[in-house]
Formats: sequence, C-alpha cells, structure tokens
Amino acid sequence: MRIGILGGTFDPPHLGHMALAETARQNLNLDEVIWMPAFQNPLKTKIKSTPAKHRLEMVKLAIADKPGMAFSDSEISRRGSSYTVDTISELQHVSPAEYWFIVGADSLRSMTEWKQPERLLKLCRIAAAVRPPINSVEALLLLPPHYREDIDLIEMKPLDISATEIRTKVIKGQSIGPWVSKSVIKYIEDNKLYRI
Ligand code: ATP
Repeated sequence: MRIGILGGTFDPPHLGHMALAETARQNLNLDEVIWMPAFQNPLKTKIKSTPAKHRLEMVKLAIADKPGMAFSDSEISRRGSSYTVDTISELQHVSPAEYWFIVGADSLRSMTEWKQPERLLKLCRIAAAVRPPINSVEALLLLPPHYREDIDLIEMKPLDISATEIRTKVIKGQSIGPWVSKSVIKYIEDNKLYRI
C-alpha cells in the first residue's frame, strides 16, 4: 500500500489542503491520503487553536464523498504535542506500508526544527508542493543536502490560501465561499466558530 499522510491544524480545512492532498494522491499514485489533525502543532504553540473535536468534525465534512481521502484521530487521541515522527512510527508499527508525509513548502522549510527529522526520513518519504510565496525547490535547497533523496517534489498549481486568512474573513463577516466547502461553512456557522 502507498499511503499519504496530510498533517495539519485544519482550523478550518480549506481548498489549499484539498488541492495538496489530491495532487499528491494523483502524482504519487497513492491508494489513499489520510488527513491527520494535530492535537497541538509544536511549532504553533503561541496560537490558540479551535478545540480538536471541532477541527476533526470539519475534516470529516471536508473529505466526505471524496474518493481516496480518509481521516485519523490518532494525534488527537494521543493528546500533547503532535510530533510527526511519533505518528508515522506508530503507523509503521500498526499497519506497515509505504508512507509519504505530505507538506506545503512552508512546512518543508521548517523541517530541521521538527523532532528527529532524520529518523522520520527512515520511516517515510516526504512529498512537498508549492505554498505561495515559497516554492518547493527553494524550500528543498535550504535543507541539508542528504535529506533530498527522501523528498519528492510534486507539481501543483499555486493556491494562495491560508486558514489564518479564512478565520480573519469570518471575523470580518466576509464570504469564505470560494475556499471552504459548503458543509464546513455550515459547521462554522452552526457552532459559531471564529467569532470574537
Ligand atoms: P494557518 O493559516 O492557521 O497557519 P494553514 O492554512 O497553514 O493554517 P495547516 O492546517 O497548518 O493550514 O496546514 C497543513 C498543511 O497543509 C501544511 O503542510 C501546509 O503547508 C499545507 N497547506 C496549507 N495551505 C496550503 C496551500 N494553500 N497550498 C499548499 N499547501 C498548503
């Protein structure tokens, strides 16, 4: 099996995440992409995220009826800081497979700050795509050269969207229609998320 893991805060999930997941699935011929909401991203501790149960529900809605997409609540159930190396190590133990950890170029750029990046590269490959304003080649060149053979760059149309911008639009009462699926928008409204 060839499995992609898309880690993230998903606060909320948006079209950028879907494009990244779908492009990786097609380009790398993956059997499925598992969306893995973090309980706490160790590199985003200064930002207070929406409670994990809401982020997980939004992920379920975002991928509903999308072929080849699945989700896991492993990082949420584990609680604490969500380290990718722990997640992939657990996955390799429970369901051994070929894994790719899928990231945008902004995340790839910070890879040396992740927990045990070299051990992670022994457990899986990394798939990286453009995340404006950073392209994946630029991000790759900033990493130690010996990381490069375990990283696959995937071609993707640049999509300048972030969850931060979406939350700001909700606060300002602006439409998020073009970037977030209808079911997720309804969930945000019903649960009054991102209101001050
Ligand atoms: P925030 O604005 O709250 O920091 P985000 O939009 O970056 O959130 P995350 O859930 O943190 O969303 O991102 C999860 C993964 O998806 C990361 O690897 C990130 O690089 C990638 N990603 C998010 N948005 C895009 C996009 N527009 N294009 C490509 N990759 C993206």
